[in-house]
Amino acid sequence: MKLIDSSGIRKVFDLARNMKDPVNLSIGQPDFDVPEEVKKAAVESILAGHNRYTVTQGIPELHKALRELLKATRGIEPEGMLITSGVSGGLVLAFLALVEQGDEVVIPDPYFVMYKHLANLTGGTPKFVDTYPDFRLRREALEAAITPRTKLLVLNSPCNPTGVTYSRAELEMAADVAREHDLLVLSDEIYDCFAYDGGYTSMASIYPKTLLMGGFSKSHAMTGWRLGYAAGPGALIAEMTKLQQFSFVCAPSIAQYAGLTALENIDGINEYREQYAAKRDLIYNGLKDNFEIQKPDGAFYIFPKTPWGTDHEFVAEAIKRNLLIIPGSVFSERNSNFRISYAASDDTLKRGIDLLNQLAVSRS
Ligand code: PLP
Repeated sequence: MKLIDSSGIRKVFDLARNMKDPVNLSIGQPDFDVPEEVKKAAVESILAGHNRYTVTQGIPELHKALRELLKATRGIEPEGMLITSGVSGGLVLAFLALVEQGDEVVIPDPYFVMYKHLANLTGGTPKFVDTYPDFRLRREALEAAITPRTKLLVLNSPCNPTGVTYSRAELEMAADVAREHDLLVLSDEIYDCFAYDGGYTSMASIYPKTLLMGGFSKSHAMTGWRLGYAAGPGALIAEMTKLQQFSFVCAPSIAQYAGLTALENIDGINEYREQYAAKRDLIYNGLKDNFEIQKPDGAFYIFPKTPWGTDHEFVAEAIKRNLLIIPGSVFSERNSNFRISYAASDDTLKRGIDLLNQLAVSRS
């Protein structure tokens, strides 16, 4: 537990405590609500009596619907599948099932925070692959991080916090390296529905030894409902299922039934994808003159370099001006960038852009 350091984000929330009506570009969830028909399905599932434990692996109807989705979108028929309490629940189970004392977990940096903490918590060692300044995967960097103790390579595309979405060529390169070392790849694809220009390629379509994770938090704004899934090698899913039986027990039953309706309405997300692509353009074009910035191709984050000072210095000054953003070192071993979530109204984004541009030139 001592290795889990949450002081970076705590500092920000301490500073932010007294903010009144902040321009909030820190939130890691969609700014739209759960679709009406999914809400109705949840209420109906309660009234229909789906209020008990489900089977640990999740209801068969949802397995069937997810398998159909994975076949259609990725061309895969995974050996095993488990419905989890969000992708977070799946990550906990996977790390506990896989990582032993001294095992190394290769993680491209910047990264979603849970990977590092779970690697440490399970006695493993996170091995970071620095991907600055453009956040792309490079073969030499990836290979340099692999040792005989490597247990797992974690990929997250589209990525939180950079918004980078790996191309097919990048994933094929990573698959090639993984194959050479017989590595398991954990592919966190929770933002798959928010891939913009180049479309979306799944690691699971390319490399069979992939543990794929997906969920409903971002696609359907169901963050509080705790629903996700893990799909991949049968033996690993069996161990994760065993562990779920003695930990989470099952994913929330109501969310599982409502998840069926969510999957029936998956095309409804197209509209949001277009809106978020437009927000991505708005924020990128608004900041590119004053910031060193990588144009994201997915998710709803952008990760500019601070024009002066460390990430915490820059964020502290932003908070003084009523703008809430997150220091990059929460997601990285470097302290040179900051994360913006553009899952916000266009008005909020425009106010944020103005404040950031003023802040950028304030010390030049
Ligand atoms: N993986 C990534 C990359 C995320 O950004 C998040 C949430 O922010 C999660 C997993 C957790 O998702 P869930 O709500 O399904 O647990």
